[in-house]
Amino acid sequence: MKDTLQRFLFENAAVRGEIVHLDATWQAVLERHDYPAPLRALLGEMMAAVALLAATLKLKGRMIVQLQGSGPVSLLVVEGTSERTLRAIAHYSEQDLQGDLRTLLGDGRLAITLEPREGGERYQGIVDLSGDTLADALTDYLMRSEQLDTSLWLAADAQQAAGLLIQKLPGEKSGADVDLWNRVQHLSATIRSEELLAVPPGEIIRRLYHEEDVRVFEAEPVCFRCSCSRERVANMLRTLGAVEVHEILAEQGAIDVACEFCNQKYNFDVVDAEQLFAAGVSPETPRTHH
Ligand SMILES: [Zn+2]
Repeated sequence: MKDTLQRFLFENAAVRGEIVHLDATWQAVLERHDYPAPLRALLGEMMAAVALLAATLKLKGRMIVQLQGSGPVSLLVVEGTSERTLRAIAHYSEQDLQGDLRTLLGDGRLAITLEPREGGERYQGIVDLSGDTLADALTDYLMRSEQLDTSLWLAADAQQAAGLLIQKLPGEKSGADVDLWNRVQHLSATIRSEELLAVPPGEIIRRLYHEEDVRVFEAEPVCFRCSCSRERVANMLRTLGAVEVHEILAEQGAIDVACEFCNQKYNFDVVDAEQLFAAGVSPETPRTHH
């Protein structure tokens, strides 16, 4: 099945829905890192969730969702953009991982950052991790931070990841079907993980909501893409400063930086390093004060 985000809307009330199915996008993450099974499931669900949540935003830019914990899993990061691209990474200290969200992360925090590409403020919300599942933690966050009534169903295995979101939009339409939100929640809750993973989004919508008046939008492609670049690494090295960069070069002969998300390697030798700090080479070179 293709990597797809399918948005839909219930005609008689302010309720929206989305289904995401990730295949190659999720495979691209698993090809680069061999995660232990329970962590793999959690990261896959998180990738599906970020695809869904990023698509609810109007902003052009990126959404970064982070789970930080004191347990054997210390960090999960998933980034989604308004162009429907995703990347993901997890840090963990043990191979033999077991248990649910709380066991894996221990006392944890959930942070969601919104980064508009041009104009607008960077915004970050942080809450203590609550609930036993990622879906619980995210819906709790959305209720507490955004006052958005949202329900999520997430699933992932070693091949694919998928998710279903329904969300009550602020502001009830006049003459709205007031019971619809409850009905849609009950209907949605009948979805099983296996169905979410195996059945195409359009078919899921037909099966779940066949008695409702649903407007289905055109399916949108989703893909893995990493936002790293040689220029970004160069900027990071400039921020380190000429002294430190030359120290590393003196010790190691060259600077090798590997992107954590995609394993892309960036190499800077002595000549490259000279260029980093040569005046007038890049307008992005920060001015240094001595
Ligand atoms: Zn990368």
